[in-house]
Amino acid sequence: MNAVLFDLDNTLYHPGLNLFALIDVRINGFMLEIAGIPADEVDGLRKRYWHDYGATLQGLIRHHNIDPESYLDYVHDVDVTARLRPDQILQQNLAKLQIPCYIFTNGSRQHAERVLLALGIAEQFAQIFDIRIAAYQPKPNPEPYHGVLQSLGIPARECIMIEDCSANLNQARTLGMKTILVQDGKKVPGFNLQVDTAAAAAEAVWQWTQKPESLRVSPETRLKGV
Ligand SMILES: [Mg+2]
Repeated sequence: MNAVLFDLDNTLYHPGLNLFALIDVRINGFMLEIAGIPADEVDGLRKRYWHDYGATLQGLIRHHNIDPESYLDYVHDVDVTARLRPDQILQQNLAKLQIPCYIFTNGSRQHAERVLLALGIAEQFAQIFDIRIAAYQPKPNPEPYHGVLQSLGIPARECIMIEDCSANLNQARTLGMKTILVQDGKKVPGFNLQVDTAAAAAEAVWQWTQKPESLRVSPETRLKGV
């Protein structure tokens, strides 16, 4: 393995912290105030654009001629420190990994930097790949994955991807990456591993580097934690 790709939101911190709720309000605000969309159309359009393009931003670019950079600044203008605290266990587990770690997010680099700082793990990441990597095309479209691989200069089989969203991980798996789903609750089959937290995912990667055969797709290896 030559790279560990971590998703950002709801992967590096628990979705129960509800940081996305703050961003959610800002997305609606942008659609109303900047894009000029009538209030009664906002929810329906968000659903449609999410379904059709994987992200609200793509729909706004295609149908409302908005400036994507203004959108990214506006929707990520939230106080991440109101929800996030330094995560020492995650920091320690990332620090012992001998494989470079990268952020691969559908958000913006600036948002990612703020989240990493708030979690106390900014030093643990070599680079951030954001929604700009493939002209604002989000995961799970293949283009941003190819953009990351091209930038790193390595094949997909050399990567392990860690994500809370199974659709995004499905694409990673299709391309040939190893996959770890970070999601508590119901078990989702088909990935190399499913764990509850990013810290557990980092620990699993470390264990895997010590013992490569420990990360296979089989029911026995879809452990909680490791
Ligand atoms: Mg996520």
